[in-house]
Amino acid sequence: MKRIFCSLFALFVVCISSSASAAYTDIIRVGLAYGSTAKATATIKSTSGFKLGSMNGLTFNSASTTNETTLNITYANGTYNVTNSSGKSVYSGANVAAEAISGTTNFDGYDYYGAFGFNAESSGKLTVINYANIEDYIKGVLPYEMSASWPIEALKAQAVCARSFVLGNLNKHKSYGFDVCNTTNCQVYHGIERADANTDSAADQTKGQILMYDGKLAVGYFFSSSGGATENNENVWGGTAIPYLRGVVDIYEDASASSKNVWSVTLTAEQIADKLKSAGYSIGEVADVKVTKRTEMGNVNEVTVTDTTGKSVVIKNGNVRTVFGLNSIRYTINGDNSSSGGSTSSAVYVNGSGVTDGSFYAIGADGNKAYIGSVNGKTVLTGSGTEKVTVSSAARATTSNTYTFSGTGWGHNVGMSQYGARSMAKMGFNYTDILKFYFTGITISQM
Ligand SMILES: [Zn+2]
Repeated sequence: MKRIFCSLFALFVVCISSSASAAYTDIIRVGLAYGSTAKATATIKSTSGFKLGSMNGLTFNSASTTNETTLNITYANGTYNVTNSSGKSVYSGANVAAEAISGTTNFDGYDYYGAFGFNAESSGKLTVINYANIEDYIKGVLPYEMSASWPIEALKAQAVCARSFVLGNLNKHKSYGFDVCNTTNCQVYHGIERADANTDSAADQTKGQILMYDGKLAVGYFFSSSGGATENNENVWGGTAIPYLRGVVDIYEDASASSKNVWSVTLTAEQIADKLKSAGYSIGEVADVKVTKRTEMGNVNEVTVTDTTGKSVVIKNGNVRTVFGLNSIRYTINGDNSSSGGSTSSAVYVNGSGVTDGSFYAIGADGNKAYIGSVNGKTVLTGSGTEKVTVSSAARATTSNTYTFSGTGWGHNVGMSQYGARSMAKMGFNYTDILKFYFTGITISQM
């Protein structure tokens, strides 16, 4: 599709012509093996044989062809060597790329359209890159990111998201010479392995369509389930606010549609301390864990963990999910849903039993008794003791000191909820409605 955009600026009429390949690349470099998965020998197969040559940027230049259906690529001393299944040399050079003469290329059990490039890493092993047309790439992503059995309008919304996501993440793995990997770190992609009529149709019906905001690409972030409200990007990832990534109260999603979207996790004080330490926080024996700030959307924005010495650490933004290993940022702790804390979960235990107000006292260095009591809902020592009294850790029943996180939703909560898209599609909304609900102020354009 070709469109002409015109605008009157001062005395000049400026017309910009755009076509399918003008503004955005239509070839995506997908890393299929790299780093820890790099190949000492990369094996590719094609029933049609191969063209061999090199990549010139995103373009494959063919230097020769072979009828061999299996090729092994290795690297040594500055030279890439290509051999057939019998070990006979087929091609060698200072660089190498290959493309099936027709149809797909099989690598590691999956079939892909497009050329393959091989880059030697410092280990001598090979990074394997699939140069995929963006539409083939989207068809290879969709069935992994959303069930092919879901309504077509939800799949179309996912297709536009996935296209906008990958164009917003070009060069993410630049140090390895490709754009995106094929795992959940970027988007899962395994060529035509799960190709399905529904997902192919969703890609075809939205061919080349991307999200735009204020004349620029809007990155199509998505996640599984909002649990009730999405969230502003800065409240999850920090950084500056992105105008199209605003939290919305999700009136459409049915979180109960998946058992993973309504969840509860109970952690002991020790498990919480371990998780905090693993995440780089310094904390002693955990005495209290509570939500100390929520966003306007009601999602958790800050959790404060206090240890038995009174020292606190504050966990913010998306870390309130990842540090504790939770499904979402939308939860309560021990049923506490207030925005300012007030949890009384820091009960003092002696010999495994909870100590109630007035039933237990400690004698301070001044000889006076300090009783267990509560002030503003917090368990404290009260009485005439003027010295600080510390209940020893041995007196605390570690088995009783647990925290239950109960929540809804699954994922980071920024952008489109996939379960929400599914609900909206079932209610009769189309993919444009879905995308405009989850991405504030966007339009949908041809890339
Ligand atoms: Zn990645």
